[in-house]
Formats: sequence, structure tokens, C-alpha cells
Amino acid sequence: MKQLGFGTMRLPTVNGEVDVKECEKLFDRFLEGGFTYFDTAYGYHDYKSELVVREALVKRHPRESFLLADKMPVWLVKESADLERLFSEQLEKTGAGYFDYYLLHALSEARIETADAVDAWGFVLKKKEEGLIKHVGFSFHDTPEVLDKVLSAHPQVEFVQLQINYADWESERVESRRCYEVARRHGKAVIIMEPVRGGSLADLRSPIGDPFKKAAPDKSFASWALRYAASLEGVLMVLSGMSAMEQVVDNMATFSPMVPLDEQERKVVEEVREALEKAPTIPCTRCNYCTETCPQGIPIPSILASLNDDAAYGEAYAKRQYASATKDKPFASACIECEVCLSRCPQHISITDHLKAAAEKFE
Ligand code: SF4
Ligand code: SF4
Repeated sequence: MKQLGFGTMRLPTVNGEVDVKECEKLFDRFLEGGFTYFDTAYGYHDYKSELVVREALVKRHPRESFLLADKMPVWLVKESADLERLFSEQLEKTGAGYFDYYLLHALSEARIETADAVDAWGFVLKKKEEGLIKHVGFSFHDTPEVLDKVLSAHPQVEFVQLQINYADWESERVESRRCYEVARRHGKAVIIMEPVRGGSLADLRSPIGDPFKKAAPDKSFASWALRYAASLEGVLMVLSGMSAMEQVVDNMATFSPMVPLDEQERKVVEEVREALEKAPTIPCTRCNYCTETCPQGIPIPSILASLNDDAAYGEAYAKRQYASATKDKPFASACIECEVCLSRCPQHISITDHLKAAAEKFE
């Protein structure tokens, strides 16, 4: 099985709706390249990703020609009957008949409590016995300690899906390395999500990305990130949320065949990782003291994070982050300069100046 999986959380869109015809082209090209793994979830694309998978993939290709992963939205489960209802709905929406890989979605300590309370673990294992699931696992967003606890309590799980990329490998927030080590210590296969960190590592500002260009001028930044992830031992699949044909073609080339990073290339990645860490950033700790008092309800820490993204990853990615931060909230330009936030910020950040910069850059 080729190690690149097609994530369906960032499919191409037209006027806010998924472009099914374009998805057909992307999926067909992916299959023609000998790649078979597709990853969807109940909530992706406003609950429509599973329907798109049915139209663009399931209806148009023999079921045995692809592998499909889907996920139980544990946050929507209030009682055990919800598990059966949601699972049946997923089978119907995808039309897949069965799932090759099935995950309890985005487990954290609180969601593990829910999964335990309704015995979601017993439910997925029963579906496996019935042949409706081939392989059982979960995706995870919490600390290595919580991961260790849940894998000790549920040894039947076959694989774990983790956020792993070179930028987050040692980060205190994601703890990619330590989570990966816990999963491997428990003998679990690992599926990697966000290897290109939401696309941010595909678009690095100069001079941050220069070592990649110098080492391999014809290779994309994304190819370095994917190879970093796929070079790890025990990795079953590396998922990439692809939305354009160039990405599909470039990513497939990286895996045809996948060549693990050698020692020299690892040093190049390390150089870029260090440069990313040193990129000038606004030292916001996301304590939210400012947002508690802002009369305009401006999402200040998220806007400051977009400015930080702009410094490291370039404008295209930062603009997407800004759009997401202000999706249901006021823009930076809504600031009335009352300055209440300034006295609240323990980091003494010049919030009003940064908001002006964000408004100029992103709006
Ligand atoms: S200065 Fe702007 S961001 Fe700060 S509290 Fe006032 S309106 Fe909100
Ligand atoms: S108060 Fe300062 S550090 Fe805290 S979230 Fe607001 S800007 Fe960031």
C-alpha cells in the first residue's frame, strides 16, 4: 500500500460549496497513480465530505479499488444509541458498505471519558466482528500521558492517528515526538495527519525556506515535510488534505517512490525548523485577558497569531488563518482604540498597532 492518503477536509470549492467535478478529477488522478487511501469524517466540509466521497469516489470506482477511512464524531455522542445512529448515517452517506479504517475522532481526555461512558470501544469492535469495519483506531489531540493511559486501557486498538510534522516535532503545544514514541512503545501503527501543518510548511518565507531551495532547487517545500513524516518507522499512512491538481501531482511524485531523508537532508530540515522557531513573533500567550474586556469582541489572540503566521509562512497561509479567525467575529478594523485591552495584557503587547497592521494586510 502506498503511504500517501487523500485527506478530504480541504477539497476544492466553488462559491463556498465543494466542487464535486473537480474532486472527481483529483480522485481519479490519485487512483491512476496507484494510490488507494481516502480519509473522510462526519464533520468535514460542513458535514458534506462523506456525500462528496460517495459521489466522486464510491459511485464511480469498484469498492475494492480504494480504501476508505471514516470517523465517529465522539462530541455528538450523548448516549450509546447515538453510536449506532451516527454509524448507520455514515454508511448511508458514503454508500461505502463498510469502512476499511474507522476512528474515534479527535480524542482528548474529555472525549475519552465520553467514549468510555458509552463504550464506543466495544461498539467499534462489534462492528469489526460484523465486517463493517476492517481496522479500528482513533485520532488524538492531547498529551503523551493521556495517550499512554488510553492505549493501556484499550490495547485492541490497531492504529493511532497523530499530528506529526517537523515544525511541531518538539513543540510544547502538540508534542508530536513524545506522542509518536508512546504509540510506538505500545506497538501501534501510526497514521500521520497535518504533515504539512495545514499547508503552512508548503509556503515558507525567505530566508526561512532557503536551505530547502539550496539543497534541492527542484523540490517543493511540501515534499520535504511529507518525506520527514513518512521517514519515521511504523508509519502506515501520511495524510495530505489536497485541494488542487498541482498538489496531487507533486505529492504523488514524492511517494513514487518515497525516499527516506538521509542524514544530510535531516540536517537541512533541522536548519529550517530552527529558523521557524526564531522567526519574529508577537509574544501573545493566548491568555484571553484582552478579549474578556474588548467591547467590540475582536478575536485579538487569533488575529495576532495570523500576523505571526505571516512572518513565517507567507501571506497566502496567513490570510486563510485570518479569514478563519474572523469567520463569525469582528475584523481587526472594528477596533475603536478605547485601549482597554492594553492595560489587561500581561505581555505589554501593542495590541492596537498590531490590529491596524492586520487590517491593512488582511482585509
Ligand atoms: S482598543 Fe480595540 S481591541 Fe482593544 S479593547 Fe478597545 S476595541 Fe478592543
Ligand atoms: S492579553 Fe495579551 S497575551 Fe493575553 S491573549 Fe491578549 S494579547 Fe495575548
